[in-house]
Amino acid sequence: MIKNTFTSNYTIGEMAYNEIPKICNIYGKKIVMIGGNIALEKAGQGIKESIKNSDMEIIDTLWYGGQASFENAEMLSEHESVKKADMIFSVGGGKALDTCKILTNKIKKPVFTFPTIAATCAAMTSVCAVYHPDGVFRDVYFRYAPAEHSFINTKIIAEAPIKYIWAGIGDTLAKGYEPEFSARGEKLDFSNSMGVTLSSLCKEPIFKNGTKAVEDCKIQKSSDEVKEVVLSIIAATGTVSNALEMKYNSCAAHALCYGFSILSKIEENHLHGELVSYGVLVQTMMDNNIEELKKLIYFYKSVKLPISYKEFGVTEDELEKVIEKACSTGDIEKACIKIDKEIYKDAINKLENFVQSIVK
Ligand SMILES: [Zn+2]
Repeated sequence: MIKNTFTSNYTIGEMAYNEIPKICNIYGKKIVMIGGNIALEKAGQGIKESIKNSDMEIIDTLWYGGQASFENAEMLSEHESVKKADMIFSVGGGKALDTCKILTNKIKKPVFTFPTIAATCAAMTSVCAVYHPDGVFRDVYFRYAPAEHSFINTKIIAEAPIKYIWAGIGDTLAKGYEPEFSARGEKLDFSNSMGVTLSSLCKEPIFKNGTKAVEDCKIQKSSDEVKEVVLSIIAATGTVSNALEMKYNSCAAHALCYGFSILSKIEENHLHGELVSYGVLVQTMMDNNIEELKKLIYFYKSVKLPISYKEFGVTEDELEKVIEKACSTGDIEKACIKIDKEIYKDAINKLENFVQSIVK
């Protein structure tokens, strides 16, 4: 069986855009820049500056359409400028980047990503989350490969609203635990082993640098700690996701997050990464890994990630339904233990008690 595994390429730093001509020039000269409006405002000027002494030119700048949908990818593909372009520069958050990944897979052109927030690993993965035009989740879609290269400007990311990196940390921690919990005991091939091995880079740099990075982003300061955390969120998670088979990519933490999504008050007031981060605690309790759990809880306290479902305003009755939904997702099918409603309930109750006992 043939299998493609892609690792991801990136440039990171406050001056990351300076490298654009060197890396992109071999793909041609004509660029169309596509992204979110705020993102284009923040990053557009720096991108233009970086190519002004090269033979490259931006022939058009387009808004991506506001949703990562097949419809928007189609709409963009009809622009004359996109037809003429040698490459697409995709600027913004996950939805803008995913739209351009879908677009460039269809029109067979290279794409370069310029993430302006660090909330997801979209900049460096081949997988795209696709939505209907009304915002309802539709499906996942795979580009043949991740973006050709990602230019990560840490100054722009540090200046973005703090909630993005905060939730990004929560989602990334899940990648630090779910692949191993899912694949434990399995006979893994090289690519899956690489994914599980590298998944430690989705937690260790965060434990080491996360608290400081969040503090720095609050005052919009790009520091070494911010850089390390951003790489964990974008590069480590992206590489792990590209290397692993889908079935090992998520487990009980994500399933619980999807469970919470049935409650509209949660959907409206809480971010994906925040919910997933709570799921990480529950999964670690399922795994009975008390040492790791302590480490996680102390870290969560320092950055104010949730340590109890009560922080979401969820009642015990609602929790029943949340668990039921979590157990209906495919995410828990591949796990080192058999996960059912009782296992979730037991882990959540134990976690509540444990948190009480160590957080005074
Ligand atoms: Zn996630």
